[in-house]
Amino acid sequence: MYEQSPVANLEIAPLPATERRHVLVIGAGLVGLASALWLQKAGHRVTVIDREPPLAGASYEQACSYGNACTIAPHSVLPVATPAIAWRVPAMLANPLGPLAIVWRYLPHLAPWLRAFVASSSKHEVERIAAVLSSLLMQADAAWRPLVHEAGAKALERRHGCLYLYKTEAQFQSAEPEMFFRERHGVALERLDVAAIRDLEPNLAPLYCRGVLFRDAYTFSSPKLLAFALAMVVGERGGTFVGGEASGLEMTGAGVRLRVGGDEILADHAVVAAGAWSGMLARQVGDSVLLDTERGYHVLFPRAGSLLTRPVCYPQHGFYMTPMADGLRAAGTVELGGLSAPPNPARTAMIRKGVEALLPGAGEATSEWLGFRPSMPDSLPVIGNSPTSPKVTFGHGHLGLTLAAITGRLVADIVSKRKPSIDLTPFRCQRFSHFGAKQK
Ligand SMILES: Cc1cc2nc3c(=O)[nH]c(=O)nc-3n(C[C@H](O)[C@H](O)[C@H](O)COP(=O)(O)OP(=O)(O)OC[C@H]3O[C@@H](n4cnc5c(N)ncnc54)[C@H](O)[C@@H]3O)c2cc1C
Repeated sequence: MYEQSPVANLEIAPLPATERRHVLVIGAGLVGLASALWLQKAGHRVTVIDREPPLAGASYEQACSYGNACTIAPHSVLPVATPAIAWRVPAMLANPLGPLAIVWRYLPHLAPWLRAFVASSSKHEVERIAAVLSSLLMQADAAWRPLVHEAGAKALERRHGCLYLYKTEAQFQSAEPEMFFRERHGVALERLDVAAIRDLEPNLAPLYCRGVLFRDAYTFSSPKLLAFALAMVVGERGGTFVGGEASGLEMTGAGVRLRVGGDEILADHAVVAAGAWSGMLARQVGDSVLLDTERGYHVLFPRAGSLLTRPVCYPQHGFYMTPMADGLRAAGTVELGGLSAPPNPARTAMIRKGVEALLPGAGEATSEWLGFRPSMPDSLPVIGNSPTSPKVTFGHGHLGLTLAAITGRLVADIVSKRKPSIDLTPFRCQRFSHFGAKQK
């Protein structure tokens, strides 16, 4: 276990009683839960709405927060769209099993998002995005600590870093510019040879030639348990959970109105933290957010949880192998194909095959999952008020586990009308409005 680096204190002072509000948080993924708890710490009253809130008996599987690779990843300063991406779009279309693939049928809906994605991939844009992203990532851990402490979830933390591996010297050398880029943006990393990798992870098949260890990365052994622990604290602090489909979000003179099932809920403010579904709620208040989804998969190997100590990723395979409380989760790959297409079993078969080769003894896989990762074209989250409805605040993004707590902290500042610690201009939801509205 590595020593924890010192972190800033992000604790928030409660507002005077006259400035406290009743806030609806739509979505009980980790972004919604972290927002709810930070809002409570600021003194607000929260009502959290979700199709299936993380309370006793819930499977929680529809939240993207359930099925991710469980890694707090301060090394993720590099956006998905990089300068080589425009050349790779034809390959993404041609190979439905590639680590980053586009589903043909979805292409007409994806066009504006894809144009913005390619426009975000210039060298200049990637530098700008990385600088912005690292300003958030630097505070990610500091924002998680008070929440984890309060939720009594410290035992879920595993601070052992995250390992990237390369099978050939040529692959490693071609990743070097990315590594220098990460270092320039403040990421601490250590280059490893075969012996050092074997010492760290002796159970891996010896297919690796070089590796990189990101020391500051860490995992939660179960994001589901983390969500349940956070929900419990939100409830203990007086928060209410409402189960059901939220719709009809609208501004009233004094605040907001929302329908959940047949009921209507009134409040002073709403936070839309509905992950990949947030775009639909944004449209209800007249906003067009160019949000889409990266469909990602995981496969669980229940007997392999003790074979690795930390998440291991061969970038050429496009998935992480993360040791967790209930086994080894192989999670990742990106499929741009919308929210309604069925899962593609060929993708999970590919992940299974990959794990069998990379980690002998992983055993049988017992379950598979498809989740919908919220995704803006520039890989930056949305954090900010609706341009049309000032009593509606959005919060969601691609790195939602890592950035949930700092997003929640900033959401609490916005709702409380306090100056946020970070300039939020790059995160505004309307930043791609000139690329056209998303219709689906
Ligand atoms: C395979 C994979 C691996 C990943 N690995 C990592 C990683 O290692 N590190 C990392 O930082 N991120 C990772 N991510 C991304 C991360 O999981 C997401 O960014 C994050 O979970 C998003 O959280 P959220 O709270 O915004 O959305 P969600 O977790 O999806 O929560 C949104 C909630 O809102 C509910 N909802 C939506 N609409 C409505 C409605 N109208 N009414 C009621 N309820 C509604 C949904 O049911 C859901 O419960 C990964 C994602 C995938 C798919």
